Amino acid sequence: MTMLCARVREHGGLDHLLLEQSEIPEPGPGEVRVRLKAAALNHLDLWVRKGVSGHQFPLPLIPGCDGAGIVEAIGEGVSDTHLDTEVVLAPGLSCGVCARCAAGDDMLCSEYGILGETRDGTCAEAVVVPEAQLLARPAGISWQECAAFPLSALTAWSMLQKANLNRGETLLVIAGASGVGTMAIQMGVLLGARVFATGSTEAKRKLAEDLGASETLDSTDDEWWRSLKKLTSGSGADVIFENVGEATWQSSLRSLASGGRIVTCGATSGSNVSIELKRLFFKNQQIIGSTMGRRQDLHRLLKLQQQNQLRSVIDSVHALEDLHAAHQRMEQRESAGKIVIRIDPDC
Ligand SMILES: [Zn+2]
Repeated sequence: MTMLCARVREHGGLDHLLLEQSEIPEPGPGEVRVRLKAAALNHLDLWVRKGVSGHQFPLPLIPGCDGAGIVEAIGEGVSDTHLDTEVVLAPGLSCGVCARCAAGDDMLCSEYGILGETRDGTCAEAVVVPEAQLLARPAGISWQECAAFPLSALTAWSMLQKANLNRGETLLVIAGASGVGTMAIQMGVLLGARVFATGSTEAKRKLAEDLGASETLDSTDDEWWRSLKKLTSGSGADVIFENVGEATWQSSLRSLASGGRIVTCGATSGSNVSIELKRLFFKNQQIIGSTMGRRQDLHRLLKLQQQNQLRSVIDSVHALEDLHAAHQRMEQRESAGKIVIRIDPDC
């Protein structure tokens, strides 16, 4: 039995994203095989394809961190009650037994990895994962919305928790129409903050407003941070949600209030930034790094999704055979929200 999958054998351009027929993998002890209904892209998919200087990915590799589907086979030691259940996959992998895992801080585990980054992922008709990755599909939520949710929701939630965003504070979401940005705006509103967002096009800014941003700023204007200052009576934002890096860093720092926290999970435009320490300590500001989040938080987040308090914003839907176009759309920053890969044509 074979399945269609995407595979990266060597890093490079779109021509290095191969579509192949491959043997359907068998679940080992403690693992299950999920027949995927839908998957979703994250920026990590681009890094896996293009490569990251100084970082070794275990090639060849099937990319894809997010997915949802039905459990169709189980390995040794796995309860057969999982068979035929509808599931969403937790993207973060960890040992499950070390002190940090036991404390719920699985993203700090020394063996931490991500589906599609450290083992084969979801851009395939089926994927084998540890049993621990299975989360119940929230009732009433489409397969596409389920697949689009976990990584960006978990990342955004963890960032806002670390930044200790409080009710009544101001939150500035850089690139509000990105996958994590759309989540951060909704979460900021849920947490009782006044939310601002930047966007490079009118459509992206409109999306941010539809999600609850009270004001949006045109990021193609180099002086957008001045408008933010005006909107906050000169004080700036209490929390800044960053995932762009070089291109926005200086404007973000200028927008940060005294006592403010800037939290970053990515550097899609480059990661070499400079910081004027004098300004940082005089203003009692904090810079916080964050990647992924606590797996246990996904249960709560999926509940919020089921209650329609958080929703997946879907930019576009592509067939697996059309993965090149999906990568291209993400790489050229055309997308607003999540790019979904429809694995089952009927979903
Ligand atoms: Zn661990």
